[in-house]
Amino acid sequence: MLLDSIPELAWLRVDLKLSDAQFAKASELHVAYRPTCVEMCRSIAAAHAKLESLTHGSRAISPELEDAIRDHARVHAECHKKMLEHLYQTADQAEKRRACQTVSHFNSGRVSGAVC
Ligand SMILES: [Zn+2]
Repeated sequence: MLLDSIPELAWLRVDLKLSDAQFAKASELHVAYRPTCVEMCRSIAAAHAKLESLTHGSRAISPELEDAIRDHARVHAECHKKMLEHLYQTADQAEKRRACQTVSHFNSGRVSGAVC
């Protein structure tokens, strides 16, 4: 069964005290988000590689480096936004109080934001 093959979501079920139906929906959202997450990771890795190649051995800010710095920030912001959108959609599956707790749990990691 698909849901049993997503062990990384077990904590979510416990933390949010989701019903079977709510958990099924949250798992669906998780699976649907994966390709976006992979794509964002690729973009971030590419932005890092570009920055590294441009700064390696350089002693001044070139226009190209300036573009790469801006692009790096843009890619991180995009990833942050998509991750939060996904988090909010997932939190919508739970009771509001539970969702708030879980989002603040997440906030101690790499994503910051609030649903409350
Ligand atoms: Zn970065």
